[in-house]
Amino acid sequence: MAISSDLGGLRRTHYSSDLSEGMDGQDVTVMGWLLTVRGHGGITFATICDRDGEVPIVAKKGGECPDEVREALSSLKAHSSVAVRGTLRASPRAPRGFEVVPAELRIFSSVQKIPPFEPVAKTVKNIDTRLEARPIDLRRSVLQHTFKMRSRILRAVRDYFEREGFIEINTPKIISSATEGGAALFSIFYYDKPAFLAQSPQLYKEQLTMSFEKVFEIAPIFRAEASRTPRHLSEAISIDLEEAFVDYNDVMDRIASLVRESADAARSYLEGAKRIADGDVSITVPEIPDSIPRHTYSSLVDRLQDAGAKTQWGDDLYPSDLKRLGLDGFYFIVDWPLGPKPFYVKESEGEAGGAGDKQQQQQQQRISESFDLMYGELEISSGSTRIGRREDLESRMRAKGMNVDSFGYHLGAFDYGVPPHAGCGIGLERLLMALTGTANIRDATFYPRDVDRLVP
Ligand code: ATP
Ligand code: MN
Repeated sequence: MAISSDLGGLRRTHYSSDLSEGMDGQDVTVMGWLLTVRGHGGITFATICDRDGEVPIVAKKGGECPDEVREALSSLKAHSSVAVRGTLRASPRAPRGFEVVPAELRIFSSVQKIPPFEPVAKTVKNIDTRLEARPIDLRRSVLQHTFKMRSRILRAVRDYFEREGFIEINTPKIISSATEGGAALFSIFYYDKPAFLAQSPQLYKEQLTMSFEKVFEIAPIFRAEASRTPRHLSEAISIDLEEAFVDYNDVMDRIASLVRESADAARSYLEGAKRIADGDVSITVPEIPDSIPRHTYSSLVDRLQDAGAKTQWGDDLYPSDLKRLGLDGFYFIVDWPLGPKPFYVKESEGEAGGAGDKQQQQQQQRISESFDLMYGELEISSGSTRIGRREDLESRMRAKGMNVDSFGYHLGAFDYGVPPHAGCGIGLERLLMALTGTANIRDATFYPRDVDRLVP
């Protein structure tokens, strides 16, 4: 039978990436979904997409392809799930130098609905429309590349940590008290008690440096972000690291390595993808400089004021203001004011600030051993040296109006002595945005959660 709808014993012999013109005359079975199909009188051209890329199918009347197969193929709609068994033919006209002439067709599922956008569409403006049809939206090539790069980046990150002697941890996501006080938490019921979804693994990862020294976690963080922005999700993935016997400078060196290796992994994926897709990949990965520049917070406040911004020492640095400085690519902002930083961030000792940091010096402002990694105006990571003594933690908590008693479970760890330690959290989606040029964070995650969205 030339047409059937059962998988039965039929199995794929090749992915699209395995095929080449050198295989002329070989019998192949390919499987996937139909990207395009068009008939021209006695000839039908179709493209089947699989995990790796595209396979051109050409069915000619009076050729090797049975008429019923050609007719069935030409009647299918895009997205149909199919298998084609046939002969690979070298063809100088075809983009990759070959096409497959079908002898047998399996139609596993035919499409019941007209999709709200073309599968080959490079851009579809309305993200709501796309999210409603997310399963097929994710078939579009730009998202395919983005998420395959995500997977490679995660592998590069895990390889880095493994090589550097870090232990992968997982910490509770259901917690009893806020990590950083004040930040917006989702409350839930834990049996009959109120509880929260963790906004960060901060306190647990710090405790784990007591036993494992170097730890990392790749897991969701939950933030009830009231604002609608292209860079905030309610549920994001954080790459957290925490390390004993180091300070924030060492952590910045680690981040620089992580970013460089992630970019290398993303670039090597793209090179492979371009070979299969014949150059039709619109993503470019930014170059990472040998040394990522570091600017002090105070120096940027000076520059912002010179550029006419209203920023005062102590204020947060907003993306809209940073834009004025034309900083692009990756850079660190270091030595932030202590006041607004979370209670576990360590105060800087001794003379702080460079010669250019005039306001900070004049005002004897307290600063912290902290940094943000930025990409243009986008914050990618925050990190710091952490406080190592219970008294210091408690006084910072009181200064922030936090309830010290509700953190007893954490503060108790410090009675046993905690090593000096430092760490950071890197937003995976934000890193992916930077490395792929994705403008909206919702396209750097499979199923985004935001103020307005709990489905799909
Ligand atoms: P922002 O100022 O951009 O809201 P933040 O300073 O509140 O971020 P941190 O608490 O420093 O965020 O979290 C560490 C990292 O986690 C951030 O640098 C960012 O990459 C990522 N992150 C934090 N909140 C979110 C969010 N709502 N959506 C996506 N990523 C986030
Ligand atoms: Mn931050």
